[in-house]
Amino acid sequence: MVAAIAVTEPDAGSDVAGIKTRAVRDGDDWVINGSKIYITNASTADWLCLLAVTDPEAGYGGFSQIVVPTDSPGFSYQLLDKIGNWGSDTGLLFFEDVRVPVANTIGEIGRGFQQQMMQFQDERLIACVSSNAASEMLWEATRKYCEDRSGLQEAAQQDAGHAVQVHRDADADHRRRGAHLRLHPQTPAGRGRDQGNLDGEALHGPHGHAWSRTTASSSTAASAT
Ligand SMILES: Cc1cc2nc3c(=O)[nH]c(=O)nc-3n(C[C@H](O)[C@H](O)[C@H](O)COP(=O)(O)OP(=O)(O)OC[C@H]3O[C@@H](n4cnc5c(N)ncnc54)[C@H](O)[C@@H]3O)c2cc1C
Repeated sequence: MVAAIAVTEPDAGSDVAGIKTRAVRDGDDWVINGSKIYITNASTADWLCLLAVTDPEAGYGGFSQIVVPTDSPGFSYQLLDKIGNWGSDTGLLFFEDVRVPVANTIGEIGRGFQQQMMQFQDERLIACVSSNAASEMLWEATRKYCEDRSGLQEAAQQDAGHAVQVHRDADADHRRRGAHLRLHPQTPAGRGRDQGNLDGEALHGPHGHAWSRTTASSSTAASAT
């Protein structure tokens, strides 16, 4: 069984409470209308853990998490063409009068926002640690590359010397950022890794853009959210 977490919407990402997808109760069913975006496993999921507004007047007490089987009539998806995270697909989800039993509600009706935040705390922490580890690995590969180049001809040595100095400055900055990531897990996941990738690619020169190199491939296929 493959599942997907369906929270983000075109106008509500970081601001989860801004979602608009609506689940209206009709007897023993929820009738769901709305859309989601950037959803991992959009095409492969057997069911969704959907966050929807179930009571627009109730503020943070007006959201619920609902299990939606992806073979439900009225559900459809569209995949996004993306530059990274090739280990899984990412797409948009559409709900047009999708009907599921109220019994599919996860936990308590009206506690969906709080339940979702509890899940996000773990997910953000994992993303921060894995992003930081990937960034450190890239810096190490870049350091080694810069040191190896200094064994070449004089001009290359000067370039490499400069590059190593740039790298050291950037590395110190990276370590500060790494500490920041560790101390503040709410820091947007991947920022440190993405900056590390960009700096690493620059220091590798054209080699940084070859798919066979760690710097390029880690920016795309190997990266994970
Ligand atoms: C590969 C991939 C897979 C994903 N998988 C899923 C998934 O399975 N399920 C799901 O629900 N979502 C998923 N997402 C969506 C992801 O959770 C959102 O992209 C994320 O929550 C940010 O939302 P946003 O893209 O709307 O950016 P925004 O919220 O618009 O943020 C844009 C930028 O502004 C910054 N920002 C936002 N608000 C503030 C503020 N108040 N103050 C200062 N800065 C701010 C952010 O840090 C960010 O840098 C995925 C995204 C990607 C890229």
